[in-house]
Amino acid sequence: MGNTIFSKIISREIPAQIVFENETLLAFRDINPQAPVHILIIPKEEIPTVREISGKKHAELLANMYDAANIIAENEGISSDGFRLVINCGKNGGQEVYHLHMHLLGGRKMNWPPG
Ligand code: 5GP
Repeated sequence: MGNTIFSKIISREIPAQIVFENETLLAFRDINPQAPVHILIIPKEEIPTVREISGKKHAELLANMYDAANIIAENEGISSDGFRLVINCGKNGGQEVYHLHMHLLGGRKMNWPPG
């Protein structure tokens, strides 16, 4: 598998608190949570950033990520109060791990605009 820390989580080389898994996705708790619920939803396929996403090629994967976000939000009890989904892209987007991931944040009122 690939080079990032998330590849090692997928292959179980390093541990994570996994909350959801299916054939194409894995979701686990962020090691440095920014909200009472902070979960990362990642494709098992290695896609570095949003820039490598193509609607044609990845439509099903993206839909699966949103389905997973809804299922996890429901499981975590944050669905009805609302939550935030964030995908950082590249240097200016604040991306640190170059394996595509969606942040699911909830359990408190979020601020806007983001920093
Ligand atoms: P980014 O800044 O790339 O959008 O987000 C990367 C996220 O991955 C950060 O919120 C960071 O706390 C989280 N993270 C980095 N390394 C690990 C790790 O080894 N395990 C877990 N569970 N989360 C990590």
